[in-house]
Amino acid sequence: MTLSVLNCTRCGGLGEVPHWRNDGTKVQCTCCDGRGTFEAPDLEQLCAAIKGRKPRTVRSKRPDDPRAWFLWRMVRFHTGKDVTLPMTATIAIEGDPFKPTLDAAAKVIAMHFTGKESIGSARWRHAIHGESPADLAILNTPVTDGDKPFEERLELE
Ligand SMILES: [Zn+2]
Repeated sequence: MTLSVLNCTRCGGLGEVPHWRNDGTKVQCTCCDGRGTFEAPDLEQLCAAIKGRKPRTVRSKRPDDPRAWFLWRMVRFHTGKDVTLPMTATIAIEGDPFKPTLDAAAKVIAMHFTGKESIGSARWRHAIHGESPADLAILNTPVTDGDKPFEERLELE
């Protein structure tokens, strides 16, 4: 099954949503900018956009494109570079029906970089359920590195 275009998950393809006053008027959907649909991501191009100079790393500066930002942020989460919850980049791709694709791609890339399961997920499983990760050393690393962008600062609170 190949789906190259999917409806915006916020407006369902209409390109507009009810006004917050709920008085029957509609406003342009801000997630898809009124287009109603999203094209499938070009993963090869996104990977090139997040790539760091050294092998198996992502760039230090966050990419501007929302999808590239989300992918970059999720790779940083899974590789343990920033295990705070990725809220800001998630909001940046709100309405994008290909979020599951980007999520899956981030896991694959992170696994390729570190050779292990998601460090971010393991840290949270430990924090919430007290579950011990196979590699205890991952619990002693900082929650984020120095590359966290200013736009994501609320995730630290
Ligand atoms: Zn929309």
